Amino acid sequence: MDTASIRTGLLNWFSINARRLPWRVRYAPYEIWISEIMLQQTQVQTMLPYYHRWIKRFPDIQTVAEASEEEVLWYWEGMGYYGRARNIQRTARIVLERFGGDFPRHHETILSFPGIGRYTAGAIMSIAFNENYPAVDGNIARVLCRLLNLDKPIRDRSIQKLLWQSAGRLLPEGRARDFNQALMDLGAAVCLSKAPACANCPISASCKAFASGLVHSRPVPAASRRAMTIEAALGILIDEGKVFIQKRPPGGLMPHLWEFPGGKLEKGEEPHRALKRELREELGVDIRCREKLAVIRHSYTSFRVTLHAFLCHMDPPGQLPVLRSAIDSRWVTPAELDHFPFPAANRKLIRMIRSRLSDFVQD
Ligand code: SF4
Repeated sequence: MDTASIRTGLLNWFSINARRLPWRVRYAPYEIWISEIMLQQTQVQTMLPYYHRWIKRFPDIQTVAEASEEEVLWYWEGMGYYGRARNIQRTARIVLERFGGDFPRHHETILSFPGIGRYTAGAIMSIAFNENYPAVDGNIARVLCRLLNLDKPIRDRSIQKLLWQSAGRLLPEGRARDFNQALMDLGAAVCLSKAPACANCPISASCKAFASGLVHSRPVPAASRRAMTIEAALGILIDEGKVFIQKRPPGGLMPHLWEFPGGKLEKGEEPHRALKRELREELGVDIRCREKLAVIRHSYTSFRVTLHAFLCHMDPPGQLPVLRSAIDSRWVTPAELDHFPFPAANRKLIRMIRSRLSDFVQD
């Protein structure tokens, strides 16, 4: 590997082409940490509005540590993977308690925090503190796979080991901040996954895949897995001008988020019958479905969901829901739905029926 020219080429390119990102102004450890956690499953352009909103409300570790979990989740809503937000708050509380609110400049300590793995710890150490730690994210992995012309999928253990070793060897002493970000930016702007712009690449002379004409075959794709599909029915349960919502229990899927009641269809079951059965089982109430409002389809990373949404009311009226799996519940006005964090598919439904909700509760 032509280490010296890769370093020079990348650092020179970065000095002119670095992306302007808000956490790159002060390189404050708190801002680097938050940006890295947000970027774990979310593209830069998507996360930027969330980042600005978050930093405005939670400008430092103390404000996150002292906020309610509900508020933290609300500020995260729309990005998914809510465990990330919960882990930020748990870490903020640890940093406040054990380090007086100063993010520690110590790799092993950072690695011990909830939700922080090898990549994020390396990114914080190098970008926030300019310490010589590699950080191999998806972009960097792709660039290195091509640079080294690796012929197995990125997830392969031997390839992972090689990528981290190579990323460490390439790091120029004292320039980890710029070098890691240069690799990230090259992956985001030049060494793109579908259309790499090799003609504009500052390290093309050192790139083995480019020299071998194999750029489009690298990285080697992993065998694809079919996402599971879940079909469920949910109810917009109206009573005395308000809508019923409930809070999901801890430990399962999307813990502590609010949702409309309902559940999965059993084999061959009609959606409206599934909803009646679920509300009887989960809340101990009998309902009547007034009309089908929408069918929502939403893809999460590991599964897809199809939701059949019904407008419904208690039949007979006046029954009191008894929570059998949810941990909290409320009757809220349509406007109040905006104050609770919901899973993305529920939020999609709220947006879809928002204009009609006020009519329903007045009927
Ligand atoms: Fe990526 Fe092409 Fe540069 Fe190689 S030459 S690192 S494939 S952009």
